[in-house]
Amino acid sequence: MLTAVRWEEERLEKIAAYHAEHMRADFINDEYIERLVAAPGVIDRTKIDGLIAKSRALKGLSPEETAYLLTIDDESVWKDIYSAAMDIKQKVYGNRIVLFAPLYLSSECVNNCTYCGFRSGNEQIARRCLSMDEIEREIRALTRGGHKRIIAVYGEHPSSDANYIVDSVWRMYQTKNGPDDIRRVNVNAAPMFVDEYAMIKSADIGTYQVFQETYHKATYRKLHPANTIKGDYYWRLFALHRAQEAGISDVAIGALIGLYDWRFEAVALVSHARDLEREFGVGSHTISFPRMEPAHNTPFVRQSGYAVSDDDMRKLIAVLRMAVPYTGLILTARENGELRRELIKLGVTQTDAGSNISIGGYGDHAAEIDKQQFELSDTRSLDDYISELIDDGYLPSFCTADYRCGRTGCEFMEYAKKGTIKNFCIPNAILTFQEYLLDYASPAVKNKGDELILSYVKDVKEQYSEGMANKTQAALASIRNGKRDLYF
Ligand code: SF4
Repeated sequence: MLTAVRWEEERLEKIAAYHAEHMRADFINDEYIERLVAAPGVIDRTKIDGLIAKSRALKGLSPEETAYLLTIDDESVWKDIYSAAMDIKQKVYGNRIVLFAPLYLSSECVNNCTYCGFRSGNEQIARRCLSMDEIEREIRALTRGGHKRIIAVYGEHPSSDANYIVDSVWRMYQTKNGPDDIRRVNVNAAPMFVDEYAMIKSADIGTYQVFQETYHKATYRKLHPANTIKGDYYWRLFALHRAQEAGISDVAIGALIGLYDWRFEAVALVSHARDLEREFGVGSHTISFPRMEPAHNTPFVRQSGYAVSDDDMRKLIAVLRMAVPYTGLILTARENGELRRELIKLGVTQTDAGSNISIGGYGDHAAEIDKQQFELSDTRSLDDYISELIDDGYLPSFCTADYRCGRTGCEFMEYAKKGTIKNFCIPNAILTFQEYLLDYASPAVKNKGDELILSYVKDVKEQYSEGMANKTQAALASIRNGKRDLYF
């Protein structure tokens, strides 16, 4: 294997050559977005009601409309926005919450991002890249608790290049023990070349995630040294355009909230989703908005100057829900349990639970600060988290049907835009949750979970069709008789 330095040099040369041949039009106009979010929040009730009606009709919002709502500082307006966001989530996805677990595979990285615990300049971090056997050990520990979906997170380093990602994803899918298995591996990794994406696609991954961290160019340059791969703003900005070119139709964007003005990032995220849709007919499959958290030996986190309040997070999620109604919104255990419980209402569709972000942490049953990129706030077990979801009337889901049925990219969007995707979401959630209750749940969760399933099957009959309810009932009976992994 090349030394990290040599590998980085070669990659920087290759990227420079790529830019010479391919450059897309920049869709982030910093001055324009700055002007939009700095505009005085003039309350025009007719305009506001029009935007709320438009988003309730699932037509989404433009970057300009998104920015306008973010300039408004009036509680009564936000009350209406929150209620619209809740309705939109119900309309498109129903009341299910998809659960996943993060799996960090490596703390080795050639980049030196100022806000990151894994930056190459942080000498107090334990450097490790999991071997295939260690990955298997992690998967066995993870799936023993009931998880079926993971987001696999890799650093940018020769030890975790495209070949490693392919091998590791296969090992994750191959690791099975009775009912314990992983059925969807989403990948969060560095920007790649089109041929590398094609390799990773061949490993049957779900969604490919690349976060821009911040879309504000001056801030980006300040936090990502120029002579590093991540210092290349445009290589990263068009990472998912290249992924789509390679046939990865489920791509995911995100920003690290707290590096710059969160309103700027919100408008930029909407612009990014729209630019993907403009070129490929399908926008971002999900959007993430991780709020910056403390990290080991990383003082910058406390000095950023753009700290984000809980109220800002409420507004961010609600406005994204209105702007991109068909895009999944991911809220992670970075946030504390109490706030997560509240934010979920505003349009969140996916959350993690029972998470351990230490390298090798699931197998070690330990969370060690010098093995983590940042600190988690909500460290409850999956079962405890599910117990709360049930109490709040949500239907926990481990569904992985869409990409296994080819309902991805444009095909997924077609169902979502017709408002019929939930005709699959709810029955599939019921089936995967039934498996969880039979194979993993504590007695208390099993009891109230069984009641929840009864009420949701009734809903399927009333809201979708008797036929679908009968099919769901038949599949539930098969699962109770030992069958596993059934889906529509
Ligand atoms: S944020 Fe990612 S790319 Fe930057 S130093 Fe951390 S692990 Fe590396």
